[in-house]
Amino acid sequence: MAGHKEINMKVKIDKNKCTGCAACEAVCPEVFVMKNGKATVKKVTTNAKCAKNAADFCPVQAISVS
Ligand code: SF4
Repeated sequence: MAGHKEINMKVKIDKNKCTGCAACEAVCPEVFVMKNGKATVKKVTTNAKCAKNAADFCPVQAISVS
């Protein structure tokens, strides 16, 4: 529903696509953190907008937010 927080957000990172550029972490550090040269999901928050922004910034479309 518009205006409601997406509490059931799912964030996935395709580690085969991820190049480790760290853009997602820079854009949305509350959700993404780099580990061993790859992005990982630190915490799924209610901030879907933040995660979606990071997905838009990912140069290889490795992030999916649903
Ligand atoms: S922005 Fe994409 S390619 Fe870059 S670290 Fe994040 S998931 Fe990997």
